[in-house]
Amino acid sequence: MALEPCTEVPATNIDKTNADLSVLKERGQREVFCGLTGIVWLHRKMQDAFFLVVGSRTCAHLIQSAAGVMIFAEPRFGTAILGERDLAGLADANEELDRVVDQLLARRPDIGTLFLVGSCPSEVIKLDLAKAAERLNHRFFPKVRILNYSGSGIETTFTQGEDACLGSMVPVLPRSHDEPSLMVVGSLADVVEDQFQRLFDKLGIGPVYFFPPRRAANLPPIGKGTRLLLAQPFLGETVRSLMARGATLLPSPYPFGIEGTTAWLKAAADAWNIDQERFEEAIAPASNRAKIALDRYRQALTGRKAFLFPDSQLEIPLARFLSRECGMELVEVGTPYIDRLLMDTEINLLPVGTALSEGQDVEKQLDRCREARPDITVCGLGLANPLEAEGMATKWSIELVFSPIHGYDQAADLAELFARPLERRRRLTV
Ligand code: SF4
Repeated sequence: MALEPCTEVPATNIDKTNADLSVLKERGQREVFCGLTGIVWLHRKMQDAFFLVVGSRTCAHLIQSAAGVMIFAEPRFGTAILGERDLAGLADANEELDRVVDQLLARRPDIGTLFLVGSCPSEVIKLDLAKAAERLNHRFFPKVRILNYSGSGIETTFTQGEDACLGSMVPVLPRSHDEPSLMVVGSLADVVEDQFQRLFDKLGIGPVYFFPPRRAANLPPIGKGTRLLLAQPFLGETVRSLMARGATLLPSPYPFGIEGTTAWLKAAADAWNIDQERFEEAIAPASNRAKIALDRYRQALTGRKAFLFPDSQLEIPLARFLSRECGMELVEVGTPYIDRLLMDTEINLLPVGTALSEGQDVEKQLDRCREARPDITVCGLGLANPLEAEGMATKWSIELVFSPIHGYDQAADLAELFARPLERRRRLTV
């Protein structure tokens, strides 16, 4: 768990982003998981990849407890622990790392891509993992491709781990012949990916590539004809690298809820010149099903107040869904950082006057939350338990990253994730 050590900038800069929207910028103490957390869902997604964290026992504990169930299986992640001799510079950490990689690859011939993942300790001793990856690639490529990125907790939030991981793959994506193709960027549960693929097929959009792929060896091609549709709102570095390789971003809200999913598919449909009639015909069965399913939860959520702490970067799209499709009132929408390239379409859909905050000064934000007494608070694990003890209903933001919540068929499930804690709290108080 990373806790930013000190307050550097006074915490009350008010900035106007667009009409009628003020952003409270805070640069105080934060409570977030580090980027290593992304390994928990990335190792499930890319079945031929292995994530080797180069870090401390703390790093190992974080990963193992976050993805605990995998301890009983043959896990596709591990930690090369930097011992005291490495940290004191008494041992050659590069030699040690090579030895660990040798052992690992000898034992696990199924590994096609190995990610060396940096951590706070490896950064502190300035272990150059890019050089280590280059050196190891000379020995193991093409049987195994070795890439590196940092999951360090310093100055990052936990979903940036996925951004860093995908970013490390961009330079090795094969070049396409510039023919039109769609690349969906961001990890999705396989079941959701299949649903979207069926909708794209119905719309006549293709070829469609999902990035990251299910097998890291099946890298999608990239070139001037590639159109990017973002499934996750925290992939700023990856998107910029993909654009630098010629791809074009299709600006769109994210596929959360019926409205978000429709707008997201429409962005792709417009790029492929699909006419409105065909579009509506293709989405009608799934969106009608979703409307019926969502209605049940809307009743439970309408008029209830939500407070979102900054944690996952999903906060703004989720707030848009909660307010526009579930009728909730937004007390404050906190987000770790605002990347205008990725977030403008979402911000424009928030109700006029939404209290938006960027960054965190956790004690001040807790004070605002306690004063507002929202019906539900979306926050990290570290804040949820104390707030629950104070009688407030909470939702763990990390659960929203682990759960399949994208697309029409998950719209009601997403609403249920918020309705359930409210119902639980109601039962506790009657
Ligand atoms: Fe802690 Fe840093 Fe390791 Fe993350 S990378 S578990 S913040 S030491």
